[in-house]
Amino acid sequence: MKIKIKKDDNVLVIAGRDKGKKGKVIAVYPEANRVLVANVNLRKKAIRQQDQMMDKNFAEREVPLHISNVMVICPHCKKPARLGRRNEEDHKRYCRKCGKDID
Ligand SMILES: [Zn+2]
Repeated sequence: MKIKIKKDDNVLVIAGRDKGKKGKVIAVYPEANRVLVANVNLRKKAIRQQDQMMDKNFAEREVPLHISNVMVICPHCKKPARLGRRNEEDHKRYCRKCGKDID
């Protein structure tokens, strides 16, 4: 299965804890079928400081989401849409809702 999501796409989260949130894709991990979306799926991570174990800093970091949990928002019709490819050789993606090319 080929990933149709690309870096800088805007996506809508359709499942999980952050369902309904929108964000920009900041990284794609094709091997894991996961995408990292800005400000979505934040987890607090404790950063231990070497000398001061008592003093923990908490930072919120994004955790990658599975691609089945997000849909790309079409830049033309502004709706979450399934993307298609016109043919195998063509790398251009198009929106199946409005039919316009996305790339
Ligand atoms: Zn569209």
